[in-house]
Amino acid sequence: MQPLIGITATVENGKLALDDDMMFAILQAGGIPVALPQTGGDDSLAAACLERLDGLLVSGGVDVDPLLYGEEPMQGLGSILPDRDRTEQSYIRSALGRDQPILAICRGAQMLNVTAGGSLYQDIYAQLEGVLLHSQKAPRSHRSHFVDIERESMLYRIVGAERLPVNSFHHQAVKALAPCFIRTASASDGILEAYESTEHTFVVGVQWHPENLARSDPAAQQLFAGFVQACRSYGEGSC
Ligand code: MN
Repeated sequence: MQPLIGITATVENGKLALDDDMMFAILQAGGIPVALPQTGGDDSLAAACLERLDGLLVSGGVDVDPLLYGEEPMQGLGSILPDRDRTEQSYIRSALGRDQPILAICRGAQMLNVTAGGSLYQDIYAQLEGVLLHSQKAPRSHRSHFVDIERESMLYRIVGAERLPVNSFHHQAVKALAPCFIRTASASDGILEAYESTEHTFVVGVQWHPENLARSDPAAQQLFAGFVQACRSYGEGSC
C-alpha cells in the first residue's frame, strides 16, 4: 500500500493552496499526497484526519506569530496567518502524540520547533550580524548556499553526504531548539538548517525547500523517499 501523507496548506482568498511541487515530490517518492483542511486549532479534528493518514508534511509559507514563543513582534517580522498557525499546531501536536512521521519544511520546521517548545529569530538580518543571504532572489530550483550535515544523524543516513547545496527562502530561523530536537545541519554562518527528534521515530525539519529541487536533485529525492518509507512503516505497523 502506498502511504497517505497529509500536507498542510494555506488559505488564499477562501481557497486552499499548496505548492504543486510538494504534491509531485510525494507522488514521485511513492506516497499519495492529501491536502489537509483547516481545523481552527481543534486537536480532535486534526486527530480525526491523521487517524486515516500515515504521515504529516508541514509545508512552507509566511512567518510564525512570535506570540507563540513568548515574544512581541519586531519591525522585521513579515506577514503572519494566525489561523494557519493554530491549524498547523493542532496537526503537529496530534502527529507527535501518536509518533506519526513528520517532515517539516522551512516555515513548517519553524512551526514544529515552536510547537514543541522552541523559539525563532523573527528576522535574522536584524538580529544577527554577518549572515548569508538566506532569502535568495534566484529561481526556486537554484541551490544558493551549502549546509554541513552532522554525521550522527538520520539526515546523513538518508542523503549520504556531509555537505549539500540547497535553496533558501527564509528570513526567520530556529533560535532555541525544543528540548526533544537536535541540530543536524548548519549553514556556514551558523544558521540552523536542519534538526530531528531524539524521541520520535521520524521527525525531521529542514530549513530549505527540497520540494522545489525534487525533480532533478538526488538528495532532495532521497529525503522524500526516506520520509515516505517511514510513513509506509508507520502504516504497516498500525494496521
Ligand atoms: Mn538558508
